[in-house]
Amino acid sequence: MLAEYHGSEAVGQGPSPGQTVAGCRYGDAVTHEPPGTQPPRRFRPRLHWELLLCGVSGHELVGTDATALRGEDAILAREDAAGTRWYRCLRCDSWLPLSPPEHPLREHPPERDEIELPLRGKRLRDQIVLRLIAIDRAFHFLVLGALGALVLLFAANRSTLRPTFYKVIADLQGGVVSGQSHSRHGLLHELDNLFTTSSTHLHELGAVLLVYAAIEGIEAVGLWYQRRWAEYLTFLVTASLLPLEIYEIATRTTVLKVLAFVINVAVVIYLLFAKRLFGLRGGAAADAAEGDLDQGWEALERTAPPPAPAPTPVSTTDTS
Ligand SMILES: [Zn+2]
Repeated sequence: MLAEYHGSEAVGQGPSPGQTVAGCRYGDAVTHEPPGTQPPRRFRPRLHWELLLCGVSGHELVGTDATALRGEDAILAREDAAGTRWYRCLRCDSWLPLSPPEHPLREHPPERDEIELPLRGKRLRDQIVLRLIAIDRAFHFLVLGALGALVLLFAANRSTLRPTFYKVIADLQGGVVSGQSHSRHGLLHELDNLFTTSSTHLHELGAVLLVYAAIEGIEAVGLWYQRRWAEYLTFLVTASLLPLEIYEIATRTTVLKVLAFVINVAVVIYLLFAKRLFGLRGGAAADAAEGDLDQGWEALERTAPPPAPAPTPVSTTDTS
């Protein structure tokens, strides 16, 4: 059966499979800065993505339901001399003290191939940022899609809507129904334009809106699943619309337009430099290599604390 185990003892014992893998690399821990331990920067705030996600969905602990810990589990969990178990969050690298489970469900923590490691470091940051952009694009998809459908619907029913529209205008302005609105600007003027513009123009406008909505929808899906093509598509579409946005802001500045412009510039810069599109800063290979730095068992081994020193004998029976 299971021997009583103390993490420090097991780590200090003869070679075990886990130890040969883990032991020799633990020394590198000195240079590792777990998320949240760096001093804050004054002008460039540091976002600890791991901590953000752990704050929302909790830590990623493994083996909290295990009866005992083995030497090879020292990368995940250790037990100190007092019997307190320290579990390592596989995402944010925090070590958390917990009592051993009262009703364990398994003998040992799961094997490595049974554990799905959470994203960390650059991979995690990219997933969060790309999904935020995907949500933004999904919002565009909904708004543009609804607008396109409305325009086409309006074009199809314009003749039946027209008398009602001018009746409402006349009532609002207290004038006579003349068939022409007197507004020169504002919402009424825009609506009036819709009624006086040609059907072909309306159909074109509706089609353009729907095509644009579809592109935004494709971007949203691709970015959500972090596809490289979606990054290129988003970059090309967003960058090509920036001149139009500048023109729009110059013509009539609104807070919303400026905000959208700032977001889109940030997206373009992020995709170009952080995601290294078009081979920039080493391109896709460098992007993957940087992602590998913090991901996987090797990264966990590299950043684990060193094994505890060999335990002092606790046995009082052996006095010879
Ligand atoms: Zn955590």
